[in-house]
Amino acid sequence: MGDAWALVGRRQRAAICLGLLTCITAYSAEAADCPGHPDAIGTFRTLVVDPHEHPRIGTMQYAETLPLRDHEVVLTFDDGPLPRNSNQILDILASQCVKATFFEIGRMAKAYPEGIRKLIAAGHSVGTHSQTHPLTMNHMPIDRAKQEIDDGIASVKSALGSDDAALAPFFRIPGLLRAEVVEDYLASQGIQVWSADFLADDWRHISSARVYDLAIKRLEDKGKGILLLHDIQARTVAALPKILHELKARGYRIVHVVPATPQNPATPTEPQDWQLHPTSEDVATSHWPKIPNFVFAYAGTLPAPALSDLDWRDGGSMTLSEDRAGRIGHGVPLPRQAPWPRQSPLPPEAEAAGKALPVPALSVFEIKEGLRAATRGLTRRAEQSSGPDDHEAISAAAGSSARTLRGRSHPAGLRHAGGRGARNAAHGRGGALKHLVQVRKRSA
Ligand SMILES: [Zn+2]
Repeated sequence: MGDAWALVGRRQRAAICLGLLTCITAYSAEAADCPGHPDAIGTFRTLVVDPHEHPRIGTMQYAETLPLRDHEVVLTFDDGPLPRNSNQILDILASQCVKATFFEIGRMAKAYPEGIRKLIAAGHSVGTHSQTHPLTMNHMPIDRAKQEIDDGIASVKSALGSDDAALAPFFRIPGLLRAEVVEDYLASQGIQVWSADFLADDWRHISSARVYDLAIKRLEDKGKGILLLHDIQARTVAALPKILHELKARGYRIVHVVPATPQNPATPTEPQDWQLHPTSEDVATSHWPKIPNFVFAYAGTLPAPALSDLDWRDGGSMTLSEDRAGRIGHGVPLPRQAPWPRQSPLPPEAEAAGKALPVPALSVFEIKEGLRAATRGLTRRAEQSSGPDDHEAISAAAGSSARTLRGRSHPAGLRHAGGRGARNAAHGRGGALKHLVQVRKRSA
């Protein structure tokens, strides 16, 4: 379905189409664009974006986001490929004729290049997510950050071989731990930084039902946007069919985003289409809230060295039950609770400045019931551990001071506020990718 057609609303189209046989045919094609799956949600339209014009997107952190219309959703998946779960995500998307955007980790791509090729073959957009997924990009030396970015791109391109031009110039910073110098470098390379509009907390130890609930609730709150998910998570595999079913039932439409090329120019948009339009509640925030101290603990680096342990190549299918998901936790990277940002409304100052948030708002890091105690325990274990097989270690401390954007046209990135430096545990035998976290809410 052409973009010009997509620009017209459903009702308007129905009106336009009255009496026009060709239009009726086209309209039917839209509803039936998933052969053999009449109940599929399908992909409503393709949005072509120019990273040079809009280098930073996602209202969780930036003033701009994708120019989506009400009830349009862009699905994104991070941290793959991890065959067992990523393949199931691919199957689910294929069965629904849904096209998504994947942010792939370089070392995962090296370990499983076929996983990258499958994404391209299925018509999805593929961006990158660094080489080793360091949760320290907000304060690492820029040369190291460049290396992470460049190596990640090189690894994914290598997996694609002669098809490497298919890689989209899209990048998501690990943990959304942004820094202006990193964003500037990416912009200089013509790469678009993707934050998100909302999350479903699918890296936490929550049920797939909860992932579903959060995805739908947060989407309903916003009405449209970029959803960040993880295709490496069993609970996401379990939740995705229900999410897609519910999206269709509620009248949402999937939008596939691709980068502009000389042959495929950007979809025409107006500047304001990319702007966040704050609700009255958002406007009530007159300045940035205090930023909490928070600590990511990210054990090991990546599961790549532990392929055998992860049982990646057994080809067996995994049931979708939470029980099963829990039992494979030793091998599949099941992150612990992590301080991922939730939706953080962008105050008008930020919108006016047209720039990024230093970090997500305080509410983002609100500690849920029991999390504080749980994460303290994890941290203690991590700090005490020193054996080669213990992979729980504090990886980074990313405390940051509060600051406001008022009057600043170029807000600085995160300031590293005296947390412990990164200490990645060596990733030995039996290692697994884990997002461990300790969250400490700073007193206001
Ligand atoms: Zn990630």
